[in-house]
Amino acid sequence: MGDAAGHLMSVPPSTVNNMDARRLLITDLDNTLWDWFEAWYQSFTALVDGLVAISGIDRSLLEEQIKAVHQGRGTTEYSNLVREVPALVEFASGRDPFDVFDAALHAQNSRRKAATSLYPGVDETLRALKRAGVRIVAYTESGAYWSEWRIRHTGLDGVIDTLYSSPDHDIAAGVDIAGLRTGRYQGGYGLQKTEHLHVDLGVLKPNREVLNTILHGQRCSPVDAAYLGDSLMKDIAMAQGAGVLDIHAAYGQVQNRPEYDLLRRLTHWSDADVAAEAALARSNGVVVPTLVLRDGISEVLPVFGWPLVGSR
Ligand SMILES: [Mg+2]
Repeated sequence: MGDAAGHLMSVPPSTVNNMDARRLLITDLDNTLWDWFEAWYQSFTALVDGLVAISGIDRSLLEEQIKAVHQGRGTTEYSNLVREVPALVEFASGRDPFDVFDAALHAQNSRRKAATSLYPGVDETLRALKRAGVRIVAYTESGAYWSEWRIRHTGLDGVIDTLYSSPDHDIAAGVDIAGLRTGRYQGGYGLQKTEHLHVDLGVLKPNREVLNTILHGQRCSPVDAAYLGDSLMKDIAMAQGAGVLDIHAAYGQVQNRPEYDLLRRLTHWSDADVAAEAALARSNGVVVPTLVLRDGISEVLPVFGWPLVGSR
C-alpha cells in the first residue's frame, strides 16, 4: 500500500491518524452507490404519464392524491399505489386498478430497470476494498423490498456484507405481499449472500442510534470506521454526531436539479423536512463534511490506505 502515499497528501491531517487501520466502510445506498433519484424520476414520470393517458384524470389532482398515499405509507416507492389513489380506484369502477393501468405500470417498471445502475467505479472500488479486508455495511432509509431489488439488479449481492434498511412498508389489508411481489411487475425476493438486518420503523437519519448499532454489531470503534453518503442533512450530520469519519459523496447530490421538484411535490417527507433540505441545498457551510468525493467513489480508497483504482 506504499504507493498510496501520494494520494494521502490531499487528505486533511486531522483524518490521517488510524487511516490504515480503518477496516469498516459504512455506506448509504441511494445516490451514493447508484442514482436513485434519476431512476425514480424516470420511472415515476412514465407511470404518471401512463395513468393520465389511460384515465384522462387531471395531473395535478393525481399528484395531490399520490402524495397523500406516499405520506400515509411513509415511502415514495409503494407497490400498491394505484390501488389506493382514490381517483384511480374510481376510474377503475370495480375492476382491479392493476389491470386497468397495466400499461402504465409496465412502463414504470421498464424505466426503473433501465435507469437503475451503479455510478462509475462503484463495483471496482467496493471489490478493491473487500480484497484489502475492509468490511462493507450499507445503511439506507429506503424500504427492504426495493433496496434488495436494487442490490440484486446492480450485482452487489455479496459485495455488501450487511445491509441495514427500514422494515418493509405496509401493504393494504387483503393484498398478498408475496403474490404482489412475485407477480407481474417485480419478480424475485431476498438476497443470497448479503446479510439483511432491519432498523426500527421510524428511526431516521441523522439519528445516530443505528450507526452505533452497526459499530457495535461489527465490533468496530468509531475511529476504525468511515461513513459515506450523499446527504449533508442526513448522512454527514449523522456520522459527525457519532464520531465516525464523514465522507460526502458530492457526486451524488441532486437537490439542485430542476427535476428534483417532482420529488418535492410527491414525497412522503414532512413539509418541514423538505423545507430544511431545500434551505441546506441553497446554503454553504451549514454542514461541512470532513472529506468530499467530487468525481466518484474511487476517491475514497486513500482513506483506507489503498491506491486509487487505475493509479498503479
Ligand atoms: Mg442517499
